[in-house]
Amino acid sequence: MACIGKIKDSELKGKFEKAAASIESAACRFEQSAEQRSVHLLQSKDFKPEQGGLGVTLEITSQDLAKGLYEQRMAKIGSPGRLIYDRIKLAAPNGICPLCGVRQVATLDHYLPRATFAALSVTPLNLIPACFDCNRFKLDGQPGTEGEQTLHPYFDQITATRWLQCEVVEGAPPIVRFWVDEPRAWNPVLTERVRHHFNLFRLGELYAHHAMTEISTIRWLLRELKATGISDAIKTLLKDHATSAFKDDLNSWKGAMFEALASSDWYCAGGFEAQAT
Ligand SMILES: [Zn+2]
Repeated sequence: MACIGKIKDSELKGKFEKAAASIESAACRFEQSAEQRSVHLLQSKDFKPEQGGLGVTLEITSQDLAKGLYEQRMAKIGSPGRLIYDRIKLAAPNGICPLCGVRQVATLDHYLPRATFAALSVTPLNLIPACFDCNRFKLDGQPGTEGEQTLHPYFDQITATRWLQCEVVEGAPPIVRFWVDEPRAWNPVLTERVRHHFNLFRLGELYAHHAMTEISTIRWLLRELKATGISDAIKTLLKDHATSAFKDDLNSWKGAMFEALASSDWYCAGGFEAQAT
């Protein structure tokens, strides 16, 4: 408990030290539930010291944990726990938010909110690197059902199978639409969870927005290719872009987008030129 180490107020330090074992035990309960995908069954009262939720009578309050310990002694720049805070942030590969897979990590998100699960305020497995937008979309919500558990990047790995699909919507300009297409191997709960995660973090909207920029950027290149008159040159280029993106990530929005563009005869035959008047 690095956050407690440098507290100068000896009375407050003593209170946190007394609570340390209970906080660690709460962290174990959370870890077991997350492993079993049953976080929705945890009761917030069991994580609030003033309600006796930590098993023993403690002198600290939820406020002490959520604000005093997390905000002041872990998240605050220069605080004793900030090193751990930064380490967790840096754990995200390439600094990309694991919740959306697109934006940069800017903060830590509490998987279960510290406002209602105070004892998990500084639990590393409850702290997920996130971008500001994902952190904002999630708010302080708690999953009410098994299917409402958002994907936890440490416990839920769904990168081995393809689940993101995309299609071209013909028009001026051409746009694309993304959706979750569950693999056969998934059980209904996992499908519900991925759809919930996709909708809560507005991933369809995010990917479509980025795709518009990409579609605009490649317009000139496709026009040049069309002018060469080489049959299927456009489709081949788009397919190669998709293959390259999928090598990196099977559910890359770019991969899904290029694949959809390549398979649209309308787009490849000249639809890419369509622009809003
Ligand atoms: Zn994000």
